Amino acid sequence: MRVANRWAGTGVAPGTAVAPAWRIDRPVPVVAGPVDPARIDEAFHAVAADLSALADRARAQGRHAAADIVATGALIAADPGLLDAARRSATPDGIHDAVEGYARMLDALPDPTLRERAADVRQVGRRVIDRIARAGATDPPERFVLVAEDLGPADLLEHLGNGLVAAVAVRGGANSHAAIVARSVGLPLVVGVGAEVLDLPDHTLLLVDAEGGMVLADPPEVEVTRAEDAVTREGRRRAVFRSERGLPHATADGQAFRLLCNVASDTEVRAGRDSGAEGIGLLRTELPFVHAEHWPDEADHRRALRPILAEAAGWPVTVRLLDFANDKVPPFLRGGPAGLAALLAAPDALAAQLRAILDVGRAVALRVMVPMVTNAAELRTVRDAVGDAAIPVGAMVETAAAVDAIEELCGVADFFSVGTNDLTAELLGLDRTDPRARPELAGHPRVLARIARVMTAGRPVSVCGDAGAHPTTLPLLLGAGVREFSVACARVDETRYRLRRLDAAMCARLFAKALTMRDAEETAALVRRRIGDVAP
Ligand code: PEP
Ligand code: MG
Repeated sequence: MRVANRWAGTGVAPGTAVAPAWRIDRPVPVVAGPVDPARIDEAFHAVAADLSALADRARAQGRHAAADIVATGALIAADPGLLDAARRSATPDGIHDAVEGYARMLDALPDPTLRERAADVRQVGRRVIDRIARAGATDPPERFVLVAEDLGPADLLEHLGNGLVAAVAVRGGANSHAAIVARSVGLPLVVGVGAEVLDLPDHTLLLVDAEGGMVLADPPEVEVTRAEDAVTREGRRRAVFRSERGLPHATADGQAFRLLCNVASDTEVRAGRDSGAEGIGLLRTELPFVHAEHWPDEADHRRALRPILAEAAGWPVTVRLLDFANDKVPPFLRGGPAGLAALLAAPDALAAQLRAILDVGRAVALRVMVPMVTNAAELRTVRDAVGDAAIPVGAMVETAAAVDAIEELCGVADFFSVGTNDLTAELLGLDRTDPRARPELAGHPRVLARIARVMTAGRPVSVCGDAGAHPTTLPLLLGAGVREFSVACARVDETRYRLRRLDAAMCARLFAKALTMRDAEETAALVRRRIGDVAP
């Protein structure tokens, strides 16, 4: 029975879309008893064919690193030894055990590259069992809205470019890693929607309005037309922004700026490159591991980094060490120290990540960045662990303590990157997951004063928090003297368009005035009054 057809939620990545629903996490029916060997054969062949088609598609889209990984999965699914073991076991549990035995054998090999294949074997096993259990389930429609109770970043990335136009989840918040990925790739996402949405049959038409934080099932024609108009308008805006790709990165008064992108996946690197970003200013390495039960080892890091850095070959890339803080604390760190303190207290975990970064990062112009720094000793520990490698090491400035220690940090850091998301939350006493914690609050004079202090400390400074892509805070950051911005891939075109229309000297005057004001509302009003909105 349909309980409701309209749900209010929180739009955490903007945009509008209308498409049929497709739920990814429908409970898998339990298959008890033996499975016909022909069905096991069919499942392995189908998984091999699916993965091979997925690899071809990724290759055709130029995502070579992702294609190679997926193609390895296809080879594993076609391995006669694995199929034989699965056929002998006959039940889904038995198939699981057979696959696990095979994976453990790989786990035990001395060669780290072969050991990494164990995860691929497990993934093939999951897909085979899923296919047997779900025999008869529907494939996703050509264009679809992903519906799930909870979404991980991989759920979105797996379907990007394959028909995914929006996503809806019952759980999650604006700072969840799925939200960060959705914003980064420009995918509308509404979270906090009533659980009844999970009961909708697949293929039900859904209207997702992330601006209004609304999801509507079986929308009337008039609402569909309104939503489609909004999509067309947004498409036109993006086309205008896109049209300035390749134009000089200079403000209206001729000040050069650098525009980089924030990424956590190879898909985002491609999007950033396509948008004309000049490199990666923030690679968030913790996102693949926020559900981890233990510290990622070197092989885990290599597996996560390889596709991203292969796609970024030749680019400047700032890799941030694991940032298991705030809403990104994995289960194994809950209840104890988390964040940078936990990483520094686990020298083996730090060394494993650094070995993987330095090795996999050989094809890029690498910099290593430390999150949530509060004092120079922390940075020194990382620098010592980096050893003799001639790699710049820098600090994120995203705690009040880091700003207070900025002179001391200058003695150890090669560069600074201001994390306005955390810095603003701390200075204004907000939790990162609080819906009131919005990027534009970085325009608060208390935050601006700290940024001014960092700008004069004597090290190169970039901004990688979301305030760098916000219409009212971007002019203030430019006015503070920031000339390097790292923004979500989906915002690179718009940020370039805005910066090219801003007058840096005028923004400097606005910044000086903003420092004397009371709060972020006042400084935003000042920017709107004096500059207006330079974008369509
Ligand atoms: C920030 O805090 O501004 C930042 C860029 O880091 P993250 O959002 O990953 O915490
Ligand atoms: Mg941060």
